[in-house]
Amino acid sequence: MKPDLIGLDAHEIKKWAVGLGIDAYRGRQIQHWLFKRLASSFEEMTDLSKSLRTLLKEKANISTLEKIKSLVSEDGTEKYLFRLSDGYYIESVLIPERDHFTLCVSSQAGCAMGCRFCLTAKQGLKRDLTPSEIIDQVIQARKSMDDPDRMTNIVLMGMGEPLANYDAVVKAIGILISEDGMNFSHRKVTLSTCGLVPQIKKMGQDITVNLAISLNAGDDKTRNFLMPINKKYPLNSLISACRDFPLPNRRMITFEYILIEGINDRDEDALNLCSLLSGLRAKINLIPLNPYPESQMSPPPMERILQFQEILIKNHFTAIIRKSKGRDILAACGQLSGTYS
Ligand code: SAH
Repeated sequence: MKPDLIGLDAHEIKKWAVGLGIDAYRGRQIQHWLFKRLASSFEEMTDLSKSLRTLLKEKANISTLEKIKSLVSEDGTEKYLFRLSDGYYIESVLIPERDHFTLCVSSQAGCAMGCRFCLTAKQGLKRDLTPSEIIDQVIQARKSMDDPDRMTNIVLMGMGEPLANYDAVVKAIGILISEDGMNFSHRKVTLSTCGLVPQIKKMGQDITVNLAISLNAGDDKTRNFLMPINKKYPLNSLISACRDFPLPNRRMITFEYILIEGINDRDEDALNLCSLLSGLRAKINLIPLNPYPESQMSPPPMERILQFQEILIKNHFTAIIRKSKGRDILAACGQLSGTYS
């Protein structure tokens, strides 16, 4: 099978080049074209000889994602639909912030985690993405921007559970943050997980990017109801992995908490959350539930949300209410399905 060159790190591409009888330094040149100049074909690599370009074309692929469609929300959020080479679909979301853009990237087609509030969960897991398919989302989105350098942040919060596709995700992050690769700052890459405890421990040793935990409840009963993974890794094991997680100076773990009316939005729930996270360097993102058709759950009224936040702040936590963007085009958290009707 032809390798996808954007999924190879600097070492691998050199090794691959040498295997083909090409000088190792060409690997670096090719990576420059792929990651810095966003070339989508070998023809564009004009400082390589014509015969070399022909050879590369025979022996390798560049991009395998096909951009099918993009939708732009009223607030400027843009959602891309991509088709994978075997016909599955994934989505990525480009989110405008005050002074930069954040790209929300998928790690799997579908998801096996079955969280009750999330639309992606409804389709089950189709398959893991390859490192190349993860990185290609970034490349394709950058290519569609007037100034690609304004995309400074990446969040692995799209479709799928990144830590359930551990090796490919870690490999892709390595390429995204390496100088030879896409050169993102590791401070600006965030991986979000529903709480796969063994992989959280491993991740702390393997990579230094930000960790976000989709928490959504401060007690096991509620969390079991919302997120089946909690039965396997209950809160005490999850929080203890967070306490052990190596955090560079001044960094914090982000805890995402979707507020759902009548389920996890009482004062008592806020107090549970405070005692669960006490002593942790934690930042809490409160996300009012984004309903999707048939979800049968709703966000609490704003008054309740503010009261919930107030309790957290009184207990000395940083707690922000995260406005969801792109709701009108089903691009907000938990609304990605990989389909268009
Ligand atoms: N599997 C990973 C990453 C994908 S979910 C994880 O669970 O973290 C990204 C975020 O969207 C999570 O924080 C999740 O809690 C949130 N989310 C999912 N469905 C949502 C919904 N309907 N409304 C608001 N946020 C939602």
